[in-house]
Amino acid sequence: MLLKTSANIFARKSFYMKIGILGGGQLGRMLLQQAANYVVETYVLENDENCPAAHLCHHFTKGDITNFNDVYNFGKQLDALTIEIESVNVAALEKLEAEGVTIYPKPSAIKIIKNKILQKQFYKENQIPTSEFVITATLDELKAHAHFLPAVHKVGEGGYDGKGVQLLHDETHTHKGFDAPSVLEKMVKIKKEISMIVAMDAKGNTAIYPPAEMVANPVLNLLDYQLSPALIPEKTLWKAEAIARAVVKHLNSPGLFAVELFIDDKDDVLVNETAPRVHNSGHHTIEANYCSQFDMLWRVMLNYPLGNTKPILPSAIVNLLGAEGYSGNAVYEGLEEIMQIENVYVHLYGKTTTKPGRKMGHVTIMSKDYQDLTHTANKIKHLLKVKA
Ligand code: ADP
Repeated sequence: MLLKTSANIFARKSFYMKIGILGGGQLGRMLLQQAANYVVETYVLENDENCPAAHLCHHFTKGDITNFNDVYNFGKQLDALTIEIESVNVAALEKLEAEGVTIYPKPSAIKIIKNKILQKQFYKENQIPTSEFVITATLDELKAHAHFLPAVHKVGEGGYDGKGVQLLHDETHTHKGFDAPSVLEKMVKIKKEISMIVAMDAKGNTAIYPPAEMVANPVLNLLDYQLSPALIPEKTLWKAEAIARAVVKHLNSPGLFAVELFIDDKDDVLVNETAPRVHNSGHHTIEANYCSQFDMLWRVMLNYPLGNTKPILPSAIVNLLGAEGYSGNAVYEGLEEIMQIENVYVHLYGKTTTKPGRKMGHVTIMSKDYQDLTHTANKIKHLLKVKA
């Protein structure tokens, strides 16, 4: 039986809310795992009925998150909607918002973030520190900006997981750029890459997690492993927190955001980009922080108080990516061995098939000792492989 209240005494639309997620990947899956602790009826829109989130929601709808009608028809039956990827149909979300469906975050914020050109302009207009940039519409325009190199060329829309990003060290690299509206940013001398997750509720209260520090794999241009809280000086932390809060304040929307930042060789902090949703850099919060990023987003959407972002213990995350040279039904080599290690938590995303570089799961390690975290992270990277 469904629970219903007649009076809206909790400032939520009703005690029993219907909330949808656009996208059915691992982020949606982990969000749904947390939804089971609340009174909420969950809906997922995704074009693959075998996607990681399909079996954990109450109602699955097969459809295209970039198609106006699919998104609108899915959303109009709901109290609220959130996204697990930003490549969604924003026009449909705007119409739904106008008709009273609450969107987390607001379509106006998704619109800015979805396009790297608008996103950079937003930082500039709001005096949020970010690397200097110019906008290029074509490859010829990029070539005319050779004096701006070394720089990084990023396609305005459609890039994902490093695919829409080219590092241009000198003129001989410009042919690798994009013949489409893009941003050309000055190359930052990066000392560290960190990410900060910030939640904002409907009243404008914010909660910020300690930063996570990325250790990147330069070959694949993908995250190698991550440590949290990041080992950075207190003054740098203060700068990063102020900048991350400013980004969310200016986006002016309730929701949960991941602000990715560079710390450069002069210890200046610059925004790289923002994600308007739960994020890979916050997966450790499931075990390592009192309130996880997923729980936090439900608190925002269900109008509950924000949770405690403090870490219980420092943690590391190893992403479990499909091994090179293997495609087909996934087999997890080394799983039993790593599951015997103390304070190691395995998350498999339920994808039946693997391919090189596909995100198949992640492993969280907790320890009060950072050396132990790094050591165990490396051990797991060597022992655990996704093959076919
Ligand atoms: P994506 O959205 O595909 O993840 P990012 O904008 O985060 O792309 O860029 C991917 C990586 O490229 C970053 O993590 C960083 O290592 C590098 N990078 C991006 N922008 C710059 C920059 N301005 N200067 C130096 N390196 C950069």
